[in-house]
Amino acid sequence: MLMSFTRGGKSERRGHTRITAMKLTISLTFRLGAFMSLLAASSLLAGEVAVDPSDSGADLLNDTTEDLDSRSSEVTAAAEQFVELAPPDEPDVPLADAVTTAAGNAKPLSLLGVDVAPGYSARLNWAATELFEGVPVSTPVLVINGSEPGPTLCLTAAVHGDELNGIEMVRRVMHDISPDRLSGALIGVPIVNVQGFRRGSRYLPDRRDLNRYFPGNPNGSAAARIASSLFENVIAHCDALIDLHTGSFERANLPQIRADLRNPDVVTLTQGFGATVILHSTPGVGTLRHAATQAGIPTVTLEAGGPLQLELGEVKHGVKGIETLISSLGMTKRSRLWGDPEPVYYSSSWVRADSGGILLSDVSLGSTVRRGQLLGTVTDPMNNARTEIRSPYSGRIIGMARNQVVMPGFAAFHVGIQTDQAPVDSLEDDDGSLVSESEALTEDSAYIDGISE
Ligand SMILES: [Zn+2]
Repeated sequence: MLMSFTRGGKSERRGHTRITAMKLTISLTFRLGAFMSLLAASSLLAGEVAVDPSDSGADLLNDTTEDLDSRSSEVTAAAEQFVELAPPDEPDVPLADAVTTAAGNAKPLSLLGVDVAPGYSARLNWAATELFEGVPVSTPVLVINGSEPGPTLCLTAAVHGDELNGIEMVRRVMHDISPDRLSGALIGVPIVNVQGFRRGSRYLPDRRDLNRYFPGNPNGSAAARIASSLFENVIAHCDALIDLHTGSFERANLPQIRADLRNPDVVTLTQGFGATVILHSTPGVGTLRHAATQAGIPTVTLEAGGPLQLELGEVKHGVKGIETLISSLGMTKRSRLWGDPEPVYYSSSWVRADSGGILLSDVSLGSTVRRGQLLGTVTDPMNNARTEIRSPYSGRIIGMARNQVVMPGFAAFHVGIQTDQAPVDSLEDDDGSLVSESEALTEDSAYIDGISE
């Protein structure tokens, strides 16, 4: 197994007997650089499509030619299965208490067959299976085990292989923190979907969306096996998880936390990100966010920017937010300065193009819009007919399509709508009984198109 360890301290020496792993390499940096160079090799595969996540794992026979919106039925169906809310009797203990109540010395962190001693960093490898063609495909797992006890926070990126901003966020966060100044542990998986990443693709090579298969099944399809391996070998060791994503298919997102605000532990996480937009969103079945939260690991999604690009502003915002969370959990003592807090959006809606043609936007990400305001135009290139897209809501543009050719029904602008209503209210009938998710979801839900995570 290939791995390297990094000592956290500067001059202080500790016996190597504290490291129980097979191989030790003193190195001041992780060796992610070579991996990042693969970024340059990534390229967009045109015309790729998703497949039905409910299939049994049999090989694909049909080369489907679905368009973007054809994904909506699958995602909506998945969302409808989600009826279970967070158990109301679960103790509402802020994660930061794990630091204050932790007693004694920090312990070795056992992960992927390796014990990482307190005060050390390590680069491990996770290989899901002997994948495709019988060649194992492994991807780095970065570990920082702090010298003081505390919670284990995990970062995952590129579950969709074409979402690059999160990869760079993980690299920056994991290189910026010394184990000597950390209470608890950080685990970072910069590139979960390594096969998709190498092809510049959102999907696995069999065109399945990995983020519809968690927590996975060791005997299922390739996607289900990869999901299961990640979940059992890495995710199960986390006390909390941040899954990093971008918009998909020529759409970009304002940096935002997507979280199920009905879950108190998840809410605690969202409060640590500094001035970052928070969007209430119930996770779809099969997403890593849903599966991990169901397993008792509170999880949020951090969305920033669009696919197939490295956007420095978005990366910096994400890194600052994650480092602020790490500090607010009591894991570091670093403080970061933010401006005015961003609002929480309990509701959001996609505004669609009603006609096909060339979409040109009149607003930008983060724009505040009023009801009736012009968002963009769609012009038919053949007959020069122009239609306007106006906002049915007052709110904020938290996601939008890049200028492109669109079909009627294309989801073009994602408007965050500020309401006074907390999500727990919207999910309860007058008598307090819970409304099923399928009833609560409107047709304008962000799940349509699979646009989120
Ligand atoms: Zn994604």
